[in-house]
Amino acid sequence: MTELLLNHLGGRAQAGTGQGTILVDPVLGTELVRVDATGLDLAAGFAFARDHAGPALRALTYAQRGEMLAAAGKVLQARRDEYYAISTANSGTVRNDTAVDVDGAIFTLGAYARSAATLGARTHLVDGDAVSLSKDASFQSQHVQVPTRGVALFINAFNFPAWGLWEKAAPALLSGVPVIVKPATATAWLTQRMVQDVLEAGVFPPGALSVICGSSAGLMDQLKPFDVVSFTGSADTAAVIRSHPAIVRASVRVNIEADSINSAVLLPGEASGSASFDLFVKEVAREMTVKSGQKCTAIRRMFVPESLFDAAAEAIAARLQKNTVGNPRNDSVRMGSLVSRAQFDAVRAGLSGLKAHARTLYDGDTQALVDADRAVACCMGPTLLGATDPDANALVHDTEVFGPVATLMPYRDLPHALQLVQRGQGSLVASLYGSDNAALGSCALDLAASHGRVHAVSPEVAASHTGHGNVMPQSLHGGPGRAGGGEELGGLRALNFYHRRAAVQGAQAVLSQIH
Ligand code: NAP
Repeated sequence: MTELLLNHLGGRAQAGTGQGTILVDPVLGTELVRVDATGLDLAAGFAFARDHAGPALRALTYAQRGEMLAAAGKVLQARRDEYYAISTANSGTVRNDTAVDVDGAIFTLGAYARSAATLGARTHLVDGDAVSLSKDASFQSQHVQVPTRGVALFINAFNFPAWGLWEKAAPALLSGVPVIVKPATATAWLTQRMVQDVLEAGVFPPGALSVICGSSAGLMDQLKPFDVVSFTGSADTAAVIRSHPAIVRASVRVNIEADSINSAVLLPGEASGSASFDLFVKEVAREMTVKSGQKCTAIRRMFVPESLFDAAAEAIAARLQKNTVGNPRNDSVRMGSLVSRAQFDAVRAGLSGLKAHARTLYDGDTQALVDADRAVACCMGPTLLGATDPDANALVHDTEVFGPVATLMPYRDLPHALQLVQRGQGSLVASLYGSDNAALGSCALDLAASHGRVHAVSPEVAASHTGHGNVMPQSLHGGPGRAGGGEELGGLRALNFYHRRAAVQGAQAVLSQIH
C-alpha cells in the first residue's frame, strides 16, 4: 500500500481514517502516495489555530515574524532537491518549470522576510496621519490596521503546490494570522512535505501552519466572522465558495483568483523581425510551453496587426517546433506533462472546442514524445490556433484551456486591439510589445482598469523584464471581473487582506498612545 501523507492540524500530525486518494505520476502512471482527510476534527483544529496560534503570533512583532519567514526559507532551501524530486514525480515538470514553483516560493518568502524589517518592532500598523474632527483639533481620528483575530484558510489550485502556498502564507504569517492550507488533491504532496518540514524544524508556534490534504468537505463550515479565505481555482468552484453562508452571512473576507484569458499585444508600427516583434514571439512561445501552459497567468490570446498575422504565426510556430515534450527526467525534454489524466482530458476537450472555431497554425502533437508512452503519459505538444475574425468569435475570448494552447488574432488598429483584449472581461495580466513608449504607457493605463498587471516590453528591457507570466512578490497578482476580483502580493499591500482597518477617535493625547 502506498504511504499515507499526514495532515497537520491542531498543532499535531493526524492521519485520515479513510482509504484516501492515490496521487499518481502523470508521466509514468505509477502510484506515489495517498492523501486523506476523513475523520479529522476540523472544528477543534480551527479553534486551536484561532485560540492558541493566533495569540502566539500576535505577541510577536513584524520583525520577529519576518525572522520566522527567513527561517522557513532556510528550511526549504536545504530540502530543495527533495522538492524537485516530488515535483517531477507528482506534477511531471521539467527542472525549469519546477523552479518557477519551488524557487519562486523560496524567493517570495525571502522577499516578505526582508520587507518585515521595514515594519520593525511593531505589533500593529498606523494608517495615515490623524485628522481633526473638531474645529479646535481637540478631537481627532487616527486609522490603524491590526491583525485579524481569526485564521486564514487557503484553498489552492493544483498548478503551484509550493508557490501557491507560500505566496499567501508569507504575508498571512507576517501579519500574525495562522494559516490552514488545503492544497488541490492531485498535487498535494509537495505542499504537505513543505509544511511538514517547516513544522518539524519548529519554525512557527504550534498551530500557526496547518495542512489538510484530501476532501474539502466541511472546511468552509468552520469559518467564523474574523477568519479570511483565499481561493485559487476554477470559476465554478469560486462561485460555490462565494455563495457559502460563511461568506454571505458572516462576512468572512474572501479573495478569489479564478481563471483568466490573458492577452499579449504587439503594438502597431513594429515590422516583422523588429526587436519588438521578436520579443513578442519569444514571450508567446515561452508562455505557451512553461509548465505546459498550466499557469493562471499564461498568454491565451495574442493580437497582432493584420499585416503581421502570417509572419507572427510562422515565427511562433518556428519557435514551438524547437520544443521537445516528454519525460521530464530526460535532459533533452523542455516540456513535461500535464498534472493528471483529468487535466489532460479537460485540455483535450477544451482544445477540440476551440478548434471548431479556429484554424490550427501549429500542432505540436505531430512530434514524437521523448521517453514517454502516449498511452500512459499525460503529455501533449503545444498547439497554436488562429482566429481571423476575432469580433465574431466569442468562444476564443471566453475559453480558458488550461494547457499549452493559445490563439493568434489580427486587429485593425489600436482601439480595435484594446477592445478585443477587453473581451476577456477582466484578466490577471496583459503584455504589450513595442518601441513607442508613449503608446505603451497609454495602452497600459487603458488596460489597467480590467487587469491586475500590465507588462510593457520595449527593446530596452529585453534582457531585464521579468516575463509576462512570472508573478513577482513586489507586484500585484489578481485581476478584476472574470479573473475573480482578487488581489495578492504587491509587496506590503498583501498585508491589508490579513488586517482589519479601524478608526480610533479621541483626544490627541489618547491617539498618541497608539502610534
Ligand atoms: P478547482 O477544481 O476549482 O479546485 C481548486 C481547489 O478547490 C482545489 O483545492 C479543490 O480541491 C478545491 N475544491 C473543489 N471543490 C470545492 C468545494 N466545493 N469547496 C471548497 N473547495 C473545493 O480548480 P483546479 O481545476 O484545481 O484549478 C485550475 C483552475 O485554477 C484553472 O481554471 C486556473 O485558471 C485557476 N487558477 C487560477 C490562478 C490565479 O491566480 N488566478 C492560479 C492557478 C490556477 P480538490 O483538488 O480536492 O478537488
